Amino acid sequence: MKILVTGGAGYIGSHVVKQLGDYTKHEIVVLDNLVTGFRESILYGRFVEADLSDWDFVADFMKKEQFDAIIHFAASLIVPESVVNPLKYYLNNTANTANLIKCAVESGVKKFIFSSTAATYGEPDKKYIPINEECPTVPINPYGMSKLMSENILKDASYAHKGFKYVILRYFNVAGADVGGRIGQSTKDATHLIKVAAEAATGKRDKILVFGTDYDTPDGSCIRDYIHVDDLASAHLLALDYLDDNDSDIFNCGYSRGYSVLEVLNTMKKVTGVNFKVEITGRRAGDPAELVADNKKIVSKLKFNPKYNDLELICKTAYEWEKRLEAK
Ligand code: UDP
Repeated sequence: MKILVTGGAGYIGSHVVKQLGDYTKHEIVVLDNLVTGFRESILYGRFVEADLSDWDFVADFMKKEQFDAIIHFAASLIVPESVVNPLKYYLNNTANTANLIKCAVESGVKKFIFSSTAATYGEPDKKYIPINEECPTVPINPYGMSKLMSENILKDASYAHKGFKYVILRYFNVAGADVGGRIGQSTKDATHLIKVAAEAATGKRDKILVFGTDYDTPDGSCIRDYIHVDDLASAHLLALDYLDDNDSDIFNCGYSRGYSVLEVLNTMKKVTGVNFKVEITGRRAGDPAELVADNKKIVSKLKFNPKYNDLELICKTAYEWEKRLEAK
């Protein structure tokens, strides 16, 4: 297959490109505007520097290239930014995705794998935890809404254009890095817990803040389902094959196991041997107490078989990548 990976210079996209190159013979083309991605993270394929907001370019490009499949990562993804600048999210995520889908349908693309998020579920009632794909989708911020709108566009387009199929992957908390140390999360001004904890362990930050210990959870801090980026990447390869013999579908990506913020920090301290400073502070706006995936569907239907379901390994690979970044 000839595959277009949008956002393939980013954190998750670059791990998918790495696996496509390591494990398949597909022809890979990466499209990225390099605003948040890094050219050196793209280990395989042909690179095209372009922005999906250039609709004329995208239409010509897709017509010329004749892709069989698209894996679409390119998006803005910072929740607090989406609250203050929602139009950026609706344009960059939803409108540009709608255009990409239009060009995909018009140029005969058969498979579309879409990066979605647990943020589409918003703040689910306790009775829905662990969260399966039937949980109502009620996003509580423009980021989650921009992704949910893209999901709906994809569903309608697929319904109207038979032969155009999709898999939507709703990611829970993605963390860690390539165990071989080739790539990792290089995001600037990171806000994600494991990345920030790794920065505290290398000394790049003098402390880490815990946003609230007064939640209705066993230790009072929030609980999340942390999935290793290479396990998440493997789900994209499975999704591509799945569409050969199956209809479009939606899958939650996680391990069905949650850890609290305090447990994560203790694990990072344990695997690094660094007793970095931890300060408890107030809640961060918009944080649900608990988000844990029910992964039964992806395990049974997509044959998802995680290899790195181990919080210590996730923290260790994140830390090792952070040390490499420091050394650069
Ligand atoms: N968190 C924290 N300190 C940080 C970063 C995150 O206490 O410096 C908490 C955050 O409040 C949430 C959890 O860690 O409860 C996971 O947050 P993250 O931003 O990694 O992912 P999210 O679940 O928001 O997508």
